[in-house]
Amino acid sequence: MSTILIRGAKILGGEAADVLIDGETIARVGTGIEAGDATVVEAAGQVLLPGLVDLHTHLREPGREDSETVLTGTKAAAVGGFTAVHAMANTFPVADTAGVVEQVWRLGRESGYCDVQPVGAVTVGLEGKNLAELGAMHESAARVRVFSDDGKCVDDAVIMRRALEYVKAFDGVVAQHAQEPRLTEGAQMNEGVVSAELGLGGWPAVAEESIIARDVLLAAHVGSRVHICHLSTAGSVELVRWAKSKGWQVTAEVTPHHLLLTDELVRSYNPVYKVNPPLRTEADVTALREALADGTIDCVATDHAPHPHEDKDCEWAAAAMGMVGLETALSVVQETMVETGLLDWAGVADRMSFRPALIGRLESHGRPVSAGEPANLTLVDPAYRGPVDPAGFASRSRNTPYEGRELPGRVTHTFLRGRATVVDGILA
Ligand SMILES: [Zn+2]
Repeated sequence: MSTILIRGAKILGGEAADVLIDGETIARVGTGIEAGDATVVEAAGQVLLPGLVDLHTHLREPGREDSETVLTGTKAAAVGGFTAVHAMANTFPVADTAGVVEQVWRLGRESGYCDVQPVGAVTVGLEGKNLAELGAMHESAARVRVFSDDGKCVDDAVIMRRALEYVKAFDGVVAQHAQEPRLTEGAQMNEGVVSAELGLGGWPAVAEESIIARDVLLAAHVGSRVHICHLSTAGSVELVRWAKSKGWQVTAEVTPHHLLLTDELVRSYNPVYKVNPPLRTEADVTALREALADGTIDCVATDHAPHPHEDKDCEWAAAAMGMVGLETALSVVQETMVETGLLDWAGVADRMSFRPALIGRLESHGRPVSAGEPANLTLVDPAYRGPVDPAGFASRSRNTPYEGRELPGRVTHTFLRGRATVVDGILA
């Protein structure tokens, strides 16, 4: 069994302490711990966080291995400081059976870089018509608890109600991609001043908000848990705030890109800014940041959406929607939330590890940094500042909106059950 001593890191940004890892577990947390024959990681000035947890990752395997595989995606996750990711179900074939979710789960185990918790589809083939085998996926080795047709909205209210009723039996949750399909036919970007000027089909905020309003009411009616994927509008924040004030079991996530970027960027017609839901306005960005700070939005989720070069390097209308996000998420959160004073590092640990793990009901992630806990840890150098260089990404895809942008923070080490998956910023 290997032992590792992380010396002098600020635990969750607070007091500096030493952390001794023995095998897969945190053995001791304290000051002046003797190194003995442990491998020492000098971490003065760095921040130690629980390993990050992503509720919303597209790993693309099976079916689109040209854009990402479980192996390359979990490597990207480790570089970004993640120790667990939830893999979305919109693969080919769709993850709508026990067989497919077990395959994805097993590939994650074999990768060894990051735990992969498969998300099961809500409906067969993501077609929105018939419920998938939710119970069989939950009872499989993958122990699925999060279900989503992400990429598509479960727009049929009866199907959504049935899914909520079904998952309630095993404390599961339905994660909704809130997009009213009729209101977004042909939509290319946020509906507003910029879309009018550019003459691009608009995606109105109400298309997101009307589904959220319906679904929080359905969750309340059924007494079940609903999670809202990638909130992108100020109105969505108000609805979630209202639902929570009623005591309903509603949780929500925001992506890093919706915390930083606006639809003004679409004026460049650079398809790297094309994403679903679309980049919104400055007022929306402000509302999302405030909601993440006050806890109305529970967590940050990357919506890491790798696409090969040929699907993005084309005219705006033809380009695929989505951005990679695993390797830049923590930096964007530091930029938008920590440097602005909206969240401290304990808040970052809460929104990027504790709460997403709780929503996904993961038992060995999102745990406190204390003795006896699994050694799933992330060490960050917050003083670092540098430009994003996609050429160095571990992801198979390069579709980042941050190329060349200077961002703060760098993950120096990631530990998965005591094994260093990243050392000095490099995959181990
Ligand atoms: Zn989505």
